[in-house]
Amino acid sequence: MPRATKPPPAPVHPTDDIAANLAAVRKVIADAAQAADRDPRAVKLVAVSKVQPMEKLRAALAAGQRVFGENRVQEAKSKFPDLRRDYPDIELHLIGPLQTNKVKDAVALFDVIQTVDRPKLAQALAAECRKQNRWPKFYVEVNTGEEPQKAGIAPSEVGAFLAACKADYGLQVAGLMCIPPAEEEPSMHFALLADLAKRHFVPGLSMGMSSDFDVAVRLGATMVRVGTGIFGERAVRDPSADEG
Ligand SMILES: *Cc1c(COP(=O)(O)O)cnc(C)c1O
Repeated sequence: MPRATKPPPAPVHPTDDIAANLAAVRKVIADAAQAADRDPRAVKLVAVSKVQPMEKLRAALAAGQRVFGENRVQEAKSKFPDLRRDYPDIELHLIGPLQTNKVKDAVALFDVIQTVDRPKLAQALAAECRKQNRWPKFYVEVNTGEEPQKAGIAPSEVGAFLAACKADYGLQVAGLMCIPPAEEEPSMHFALLADLAKRHFVPGLSMGMSSDFDVAVRLGATMVRVGTGIFGERAVRDPSADEG
């Protein structure tokens, strides 16, 4: 049986002050980048605002944050058109699973879609981009833990999937993303994702969340997705509103 290891301490402890939380997260990113001899400007902070109330998003915007991540198309659609009227330079990322029947809305709304996880979706996205003549950036989600219940391309199939995206669908892939198994030490998953990206010449690496984004930056993340570390704990979501 694998030995249970104690999780490392969280890199940040959010307060009620969103601007201060953002500054603390940025400082951890800068320190981790410096420790790894990397340029901190090469790491993009995606503020994960799912379920969070509008006043917290507005506080983050007032503090200069412009890059946000949402995991549901419907929720993002209800929040961001208003915010974009006031802040036209918002960059919005989809970080949750995408159903093919929501591809039209997703292409219209998001600047980056991080969860391309199956051929049928890649094909539908490419077709919709052509139709709208709008091309968000695409990341392929990799199931680094090979968890049966989790979305993502198996590590051994990443090469073939990237080739199909390019040759069969005409979809350019800007990066890879992963969500490591919750109970495992994340560093081996980050290292695996970094290795896959390098091997397949994919520049972007979206990895690291509130509990481990410092580790991810040391292992090469170009993008970290931080929610509770900036906004505090999320309210419990109404499961009947689930869209999968
Ligand atoms: C919710 C979520 C995050 C942010 O998680 P925190 O632990 O709150 O930082 C990051 N990535 C994905 C894919 C998520 O769904």
